[in-house]
Amino acid sequence: MAATVVLLNRVLRVRDHPALVSAARAGDAVVPLFVFDPAILRTFGAPNRVAFLLDALADLDRSLERLGAGLVVRRGDAAEEARRVAVDVGAAAIHASADASGTARRREERLDAELHPGVFIVPPGELAPDGSDHYRVFTPYWNRWREHATRPVEKTPTGLRLPDGLDRGRLPALGALVPGDPSPALPRGGEAAGRERLLAWGGPSGYGERRDDLAADATSRLSPYLHLGCLSPLELAAEVAGRPGAEPFLRQLAWRDFAGQLLAANPRLPRENLRAARDEWNDDPDRLAGWKDGRTGYPLVDAGMRQLRAEGWMPNRARLVTASFLVKDLGIDWRAGAAHFEDLLVDGDLASNRVNWQWVAGTGVDPRPERILNPTRQAQRFDPNGAYVRRWVPELAGISGGAVHEPWKLGLEVPADYPPPLVDHLEAVRRLRGRR
Ligand SMILES: Cc1cc2nc3c(=O)[nH]c(=O)nc-3n(C[C@H](O)[C@H](O)[C@H](O)COP(=O)(O)OP(=O)(O)OC[C@H]3O[C@@H](n4cnc5c(N)ncnc54)[C@H](O)[C@@H]3O)c2cc1C
Repeated sequence: MAATVVLLNRVLRVRDHPALVSAARAGDAVVPLFVFDPAILRTFGAPNRVAFLLDALADLDRSLERLGAGLVVRRGDAAEEARRVAVDVGAAAIHASADASGTARRREERLDAELHPGVFIVPPGELAPDGSDHYRVFTPYWNRWREHATRPVEKTPTGLRLPDGLDRGRLPALGALVPGDPSPALPRGGEAAGRERLLAWGGPSGYGERRDDLAADATSRLSPYLHLGCLSPLELAAEVAGRPGAEPFLRQLAWRDFAGQLLAANPRLPRENLRAARDEWNDDPDRLAGWKDGRTGYPLVDAGMRQLRAEGWMPNRARLVTASFLVKDLGIDWRAGAAHFEDLLVDGDLASNRVNWQWVAGTGVDPRPERILNPTRQAQRFDPNGAYVRRWVPELAGISGGAVHEPWKLGLEVPADYPPPLVDHLEAVRRLRGRR
């Protein structure tokens, strides 16, 4: 039997790895290959995600060594490098995990690889309503998704072997890949860290009731591990299924698949509106900068934006409120917001990020595109005692209780270093309604 190559892209684990299992079965030696592709680094290589990726690859290397092989690293065009390695080792085939973005699909075509599942629970294209090749509305998708029979979880392969004499290459340092530093409180990447995080989270009990409670911080925080495939979403779903509170958590995992199948069917959605919508935006660099810096004068928006900078992560509720504020209150193009999220989010994911931004902007698949979130009401509802805001906005840390959400009502007590609101929310609502 000849050697086989498995090109690793977004499935950076040894558990439940269909491409690795098939490659190991097909060859007497296997090359688990990761390629640092300058084109991808240029467009999507922000320090937070690349730092997390390097952790993940170092961890994967250790796991592969324990199984008898190790990671092989190259730099260049991923398809070309994979082919070059295949020729070097006389490989009969290249295996890879099928992905959803236009870039991934073009690479897959050029590679002529054997494609396997592993990125999603239900891969794009596997579910479709009558008369279309994909779902545009989430609820019918979810109803099909939850009943759908999935593939079995794969066993971790053992007894791997690298071809003799192959130069394994080395993992580069972060500074050699991207300029800039990661956020100070970035989580550690990798399958081992992902399993630890899963244990620390403890499971979905109470998830449905507490997932929007900003101060409780009760969501799984598994998104970066799912984004890079350090954890298998399928294995996670199987571990969670049947446990108390599982249903609302599985529903969120289905959102991830839903976004993936939308991107696969609409490769231009990262840049173009999904639905015909008004596409006129305010070009306002000062307000955009105020939003990015967490200085909008709306405490919940500012708390979220500052958490994003500090941790490279924000809870879903804060993402919704900050995104809605940029698009609906400031009238700034959703693409500018999505790009800023991608600069910082450690889980920054083309499908989930851009689909959610379009949902918030009303240009995507939200059945109520005119929805506008009131940042103060959202704060009173999801951070009633103000603990989340005080955690992230130190200028307001001395204000107790829910009063922290309306600093403009504090009169002389309003901290001098906290900015007044950039815009009047009610004014923004009137402007939006007037446009309809
Ligand atoms: C404007 C905006 C941008 C977003 N950008 C991203 C992004 O770049 N990457 C990303 O992974 N998620 C994104 N999300 C979705 C969601 O906010 C995050 O997945 C979630 O906050 C991650 O935290 P968690 O792991 O604790 O989630 P949990 O609540 O524990 O959910 C479990 C998993 O389900 C998936 N998930 C949950 N909610 C969603 C959702 N609405 N859409 C798609 N998948 C979901 C994630 O993989 C998540 O890890 C975005 C949401 C909004 C509103």
